[in-house]
Amino acid sequence: MSQPYKHLLEPLDLGFTTLKNRALMGSMHTGLEDKAKDFPKLAAYFAERARGGVGLMVTGGFAPNIEGWLSPFGSKLSKKSEVKRHLQVTEAVHREGGKICLQILHAGRYGYSPLCVSASNVKSPISPFKPRALSTKGVYRTIKDYANSAELAQQAGYDGVEVMGSEGYFINQFLVTHTNKRTDEWGGSFENRMRLPVEIVEAVRERVGPNFIIIYRLSMLDLIEQGSSWDEVVQLGKAIEAAGATIINTGIGWHEARVPTIATNVPRAAFSWVTGRMQDHVSIPVVATNRINDPQVANEIIAKGDADMVSMARPFLADSDFINKAAAGKPESINTCIGCNQACLDHTFGGKRSTCLVNPRACYETELNFSPTKNKKRVAVIGAGPAGLSAATVLAERGHEVDLFDKASEIGGQFNIAKKIPGKEEFYQTLRYYKNKIEETGVNLRLNEGVSASALISAAYDEVVLATGILPRKLTIEGADHPKVLSYIDVIRDQKPVGQRVAVIGAGGIGFDVAEFLAHQGVSPSLDIDVFNKEWGVDTEYKDRGAYGHADPEEPARQITMLQRKEGKMGAGLGKTTGWIHRASLKMKRVQMVRGVEYTKVDDRGLHFTIQGGEPQVIECDNVVVCAGQLSRRDLLEELEAANVTTHLIGGSKMAGELDAKRAIREGFVLAAEI
Ligand code: FAD
Ligand code: NAP
Ligand code: SF4
Repeated sequence: MSQPYKHLLEPLDLGFTTLKNRALMGSMHTGLEDKAKDFPKLAAYFAERARGGVGLMVTGGFAPNIEGWLSPFGSKLSKKSEVKRHLQVTEAVHREGGKICLQILHAGRYGYSPLCVSASNVKSPISPFKPRALSTKGVYRTIKDYANSAELAQQAGYDGVEVMGSEGYFINQFLVTHTNKRTDEWGGSFENRMRLPVEIVEAVRERVGPNFIIIYRLSMLDLIEQGSSWDEVVQLGKAIEAAGATIINTGIGWHEARVPTIATNVPRAAFSWVTGRMQDHVSIPVVATNRINDPQVANEIIAKGDADMVSMARPFLADSDFINKAAAGKPESINTCIGCNQACLDHTFGGKRSTCLVNPRACYETELNFSPTKNKKRVAVIGAGPAGLSAATVLAERGHEVDLFDKASEIGGQFNIAKKIPGKEEFYQTLRYYKNKIEETGVNLRLNEGVSASALISAAYDEVVLATGILPRKLTIEGADHPKVLSYIDVIRDQKPVGQRVAVIGAGGIGFDVAEFLAHQGVSPSLDIDVFNKEWGVDTEYKDRGAYGHADPEEPARQITMLQRKEGKMGAGLGKTTGWIHRASLKMKRVQMVRGVEYTKVDDRGLHFTIQGGEPQVIECDNVVVCAGQLSRRDLLEELEAANVTTHLIGGSKMAGELDAKRAIREGFVLAAEI
């Protein structure tokens, strides 16, 4: 058999060292970096990924000094006493044959700390603290701090460092005029503004010597007004190479940019074109990044010359064995990152430890494990939604005999509805993964079988797991049974006809998804890079600074009004890092949002309601789509318990409130590890 993914898997010779393949695990803050006591967990997390075959890994960001903290007492490497804890990480990685660089990240004005500093005292729109402008001497001192941090990383056994120069952090803040208003040698002309990163790389190289990897993460697309121009990006790239960098990695978008850059609605490899443009200007290896989650896509980027390496970060949270599976020619067994951000970035921004929606073991490698069972049981799992799939496959992997029932004709439960939403096509991948896993682990899958309690009792299973999910909450107002009233299942799964004017009741995750589904027409932007760029204003010709041009979204397919009873923000419960995208997308499609309503009735005219006891109002519409939350479906429980069958509840059948696939999959895993 010829080598699969030969470009991705080809070694990369850096002169003084060779990487075993072209896969870089990009930097992610997991929440395990901040305290010394968490380093054994961090070491296990990286060791598992080194064992999985990735060529080079980069840690989460470590500040070179206190002013550069992401948050007070956050990760930092500035003192000798902080070196020892890192040895656990580097030794564990090297034992597994891997290589790892430490990222030096100065947060600048993005620091969630009153001590934060920047080029000038210009507050960022996304953080509460106004930075202090560093003095001229302070800039020179900071450069020394970067060099010191790199030297400490070398003493800690790292193979190199990554200097974080993108996503709008400290270095970026010196590069562009809207955050750099200085009049000393660090401000004014572009030559002056770019001196900071160039002198940092020179100082680091001088301190660590020639045989140490220096990656520079260069912001190739700022995606903000008044960002860098393409000529400036190229000028900086060349200067960084001359200053002694080994590799140039790509950064896409400042954190304050209003263009999605990594969420699931971003097309795969949407930004590799810009790395391709840089290839022509520098001779050291360059790395493409963002929304690359598949070995085929990664391989193609390198094959067509857009990059020498490919950075994937979240895909290694989702599957530590990604590269080994690709190398074995088994891409179907990769647990694909679906770009949801729900358990990784949303956790980071919520001050929680990162993990992964599709892989609850991520960052819990020392805590969430399972072993082969010594007491083989016959277990029935009812419901092949995310909770049931997770439970059944782990149970079978442990050696239990598992029957997995679903009354539907396919596995997946509500994921089969979610996958039809424009921008959520990645959800198909989780279903493909579980389909394969069911075969690999020997789960006995029984589709089109709606199981009754009496059938389960007479089959005398040792244990039963109810993963029967939810029932959509129904309206109870007058006219709830009017023909124009539809549920989200009628609309998305059953494709019932929907008119031009629609009222959506409920503004939770499903309400937003239904509005997106109904407002959308044409190709899904997440499947077509040109459509995505047009919709969000990404300017691939780089006519404007920051490559941020004029957004030109598609015309909406329908006139939609979305309502909720609460007076608070619409979509307040959506993901921390993705809620703004859903809101911006519906705004572009001119979806009207009405809050604080009390519904009164549905009739031939439409949906009637009042706001705070005011005058009755009506939305004249052809359909009212109900997305009013969900209730647990556990109709089998009582009878099973009465018959003394050991029964467990997971996912929606355990609790419908605040249910998501992250909780469903984790509950399935944890229960299956214990039975
Ligand atoms: P379900 O997925 O509801 O599965 C239950 C299964 O049990 C079904 O397949 C059903 O057929 C089967 N069943 C029920 N009774 C029986 C019986 N008696 N016999 C046999 N089989 C039976 N979550 C996220 O985390 N992120 C998202 O972005 C997201 N987007 C969503 C978008 C939409 C449009 C929808 C509808 C949901 C979305 N969700 C999302 C929610 C997520 O899909 C659910 O939280 C998750 O599917 C719950 O998993 P579960 O296994 O508990 O239940
Ligand atoms: P949800 O997020 O709880 O939202 C339910 C909506 O219905 C709310 O807007 C609520 O607002 C309204 N509502 C509740 N009771 C009502 C009633 N009796 N009459 C009228 N309106 C009522 O639930 P969901 O949208 O059904 O989503 C289900 C789960 O799937 C969620 O927990 C979510 O996490 C998950 N999901 C996640 C995503 C994602 O992108 N992460 C996407 C889709 C789904 P008011 O009470 O203010 O009216
Ligand atoms: Fe990917 Fe979602 Fe897992 Fe994050 S939580 S790694 S985005 S699948």
